[in-house]
Amino acid sequence: MWCRACGEEIPVHGRVPFRERCPKCDAPLHACLNCRFHDPGAYNQCRENRAERQVDKQRENRCEYFEPAARPGETGPAGTGAKDRQAFEALFGKPPAGEGV
Ligand SMILES: [Zn+2]
Repeated sequence: MWCRACGEEIPVHGRVPFRERCPKCDAPLHACLNCRFHDPGAYNQCRENRAERQVDKQRENRCEYFEPAARPGETGPAGTGAKDRQAFEALFGKPPAGEGV
């Protein structure tokens, strides 16, 4: 997943722990702002209508429906699978060999 606060990419395996924080900027990761269901235009700013309303979208929450949001431009579900990661790295990740600075 990635941190909305600083843009850092954080590897997650399975579910994001409730208290997980960004290793770079210390922002809570399990927060509405990092969730794929977060939508400022939706009721309670959440597209998952079974989820409990979270008052502060930037603080960590205990929402059962939290799923990491994809980066802008990234399609499909959040990249938690190995296949997604490979596709991501193929597109943006590792610099091509032989192109030094
Ligand atoms: Zn961060």
